[in-house]
This record gives sequence, C-alpha cells and structure tokens, in this order.
Amino acid sequence: MITSQELGKICNFSDLTPQRQIKDHGDNGKSIYLPGTDCSLKTHTSLSGFTSYRVGGEAEYYVSPQNLEALKASIEFAKENYLAITILGAGSNLLVSDRGIPGLVIATRHLRSKYFNPDTGQLTVSAGESIPALAWDAAALGWEGLEWAVGIPGTVGGAVVMNAGAHSSCIADMLVSAQVLCPDGTLVTLTPEELGYTYRSSRLQGGKWIVTQATLQLQPGADPVVVTDRTKDHKKHRLSTQPYSYPSCGSVFRNPQPYTAGWLIEQTGLKGYQLGGAQVAQLHANFIVNRGGAKASDIFSLIRHVQNQVQERWSIWLEPEVKMLGEFPAVF
Ligand SMILES: Cc1cc2nc3c(=O)[nH]c(=O)nc-3n(C[C@H](O)[C@H](O)[C@H](O)COP(=O)(O)OP(=O)(O)OC[C@H]3O[C@@H](n4cnc5c(N)ncnc54)[C@H](O)[C@@H]3O)c2cc1C
Repeated sequence: MITSQELGKICNFSDLTPQRQIKDHGDNGKSIYLPGTDCSLKTHTSLSGFTSYRVGGEAEYYVSPQNLEALKASIEFAKENYLAITILGAGSNLLVSDRGIPGLVIATRHLRSKYFNPDTGQLTVSAGESIPALAWDAAALGWEGLEWAVGIPGTVGGAVVMNAGAHSSCIADMLVSAQVLCPDGTLVTLTPEELGYTYRSSRLQGGKWIVTQATLQLQPGADPVVVTDRTKDHKKHRLSTQPYSYPSCGSVFRNPQPYTAGWLIEQTGLKGYQLGGAQVAQLHANFIVNRGGAKASDIFSLIRHVQNQVQERWSIWLEPEVKMLGEFPAVF
C-alpha cells in the first residue's frame, strides 16, 4: 500500500501558486484557445450554474475539456500562467464561495465514455459520466451492483474521490482501479487499497490529482426488469426521505459514530431553521437547502450555526462532508 506522501512522489506534481485574489482582466467571458486542441478556456465564468447548490461566484478561468489531450493542455496553461487548479465534477458536493475561485477551474463533466465488458462484468468509464445515468444503464442491461447509486447526482470522478455511497454500499466496494492524472502529465492506475478509502474519503481529496477514468466490477446476467425495479425502489425511497426539490449538496456533515448528524441536528431543534435563503431541511436535518436566493455566505453561516448549537448541546463538533471551495472564514 502506498501513502499519500508516496502518491505525491509518484505523481511528482509541481508547486502551483497558492490561492490569491481573482485578477480583474477586464475581459469578462473571453475565450482563450488551447493550442493543439479544440478546447477553449473562458475568463470570469459564473460557477453557480455548475453546482447543485446554485450558488457561488466566478472562476477566474474555467475549462471543461472533452478529452485527455485538452485536459493536459489545460494543466499546461495553468502552469505557464502560475494559476492554482481546482477540480469540479458535477458540483454536487460543493459550496463555492460568493467571492469565486481564483486560478483555473477544470470541470471534468465532459470527459465521457463508457464500456460494459460482458466478458469480465467490468464497467470502464470516464470521469465525467453521471453516476445515476450509469445506474440506469446497468439496470437496463441486467447488470447488478449500481442500484444504490441512483440518487447520487455526481460524476464518476467525484464519486471515486468522495467514496460516494448509499444503502450500505459505496464506490470502494466495487472499484477495480482508477486512472489518475498528475499535474506533470503522468497517468497512474491506482487500486482501492492505494487510494486509502475510508467513509466518504480517499487519498485523492486535496485537489492535486485528477481522476480521468475508473473501472467498476458489476455482476451481469440478472433480469433487467428486476434490476430496474430495484433501482426504481432506491430512487423512490430517496425521494420520500430526502429533499430533492430544493438545491442542496446532499448530506452536509459526516455522521459522528455512533450517532447520525441528522438525528443530532433534529434533536437540537434545528429542523426548519433558516438564515437568509438557507434552511435546515424539514424532511432531513442533515440537508441544508437553498430555499431561493441563498448566497454561499448564508449556507456557510448556517453550517457554522448548526455546528455551534450541536457542540453546545452534545459536545460533538460536526465535520462537514461538503467541500468548501474559495475563500471562507477559517473555521474548518
Ligand atoms: C440531492 C443530493 C443527494 C446526495 N446523496 C448522496 C449520497 O447518498 N451519498 C453520497 O456519497 N453523496 C451524496 N451526495 C453528494 C455528492 O453527490 C457526492 O459526493 C458525489 O460523489 C460528488 O460528485 P461530483 O461529481 O458532484 O463531485 P463535486 O461535488 O464536483 O466534487 C467533489 C470533490 O471531488 C473533487 N473532484 C470531482 N471530480 C474530480 C475528478 N475527476 N478528479 C479529481 N477530483 C475530483 C472535487 O475537487 C471536490 O473536492 C448527494 C448530493 C446531492 C445534491
């Protein structure tokens, strides 16, 4: 097994500049073509449309490459211009600061390809593929194993990094390997053991490595109707127990064993508590929803309030599962 320090050595990533303020280029929305590719970056791009919370400021530079060459060229651009790199999947586990993100934001959602190998039962899939769409595809083929993932509105890359999971299953249980790109252009293939998976966590968190592809082990040969029905049941259960009708990031906090974060928040009397446009959901207290017009600062302040109240009542500090990107007061 390799440590994250060793992973860093393998990847030999360069030191990119630390976070800084967004520069005013006076060229909002300008496109910059990346030489040798059909891909262009955009300056000053609002990120609110690229996150499930529907909040957040601008990316100083934004790019969504469709292939590995364009991804590598984007990294080169960042290096040449001393820009920090931030990776975005479907943005379904993120809170982006109202002040935006300096440097280059690379969204991997357009890295697309999938191959269900009937000989091995393995699904090899690019980082940008949608996890719920794959769950439906697998079900339609009669391949078991991804039914649990139907309610997780993220990409494969985000799921591999976050060790996404539900209904007592998670990505780590079925991952055969992940292909990861380092800032120096090196591609490495890593096993789940090398990724050091724990509950909703992996060594890939920290933003230095980019997941480009993953291979998952599924079980072909079942009746598609049965697998599809099971997938539908999972979806139905999610819709009845979680607030899907308002923008959110799913569960905000990790569960502090032996409790669940939702139970602690509910017992603290915070269900329905609202700050600005952000509210602790009535249906599930570990969700903070955007009731309309919320700012990232409303959501952030509510997270802080919940943490303080739960700490006061239970002497437990809830750790966020949601990733904060950009500038927030230093409390986490
Ligand atoms: C309604 C709702 C329900 C949810 N339910 C669940 C649930 O049941 N279980 C669960 O685990 N999660 C759940 N989530 C949270 C979220 O969907 C998962 O964490 C998901 O795996 C995030 O994937 P993403 O592509 O959106 O990643 P993002 O949110 O875009 O990014 C998450 C992190 O991964 C990094 N990242 C993303 N893609 C890559 C890549 N290709 N390479 C390197 N780093 C990358 C980002 O930098 C960031 O640190 C829910 C979210 C919502 C909105």
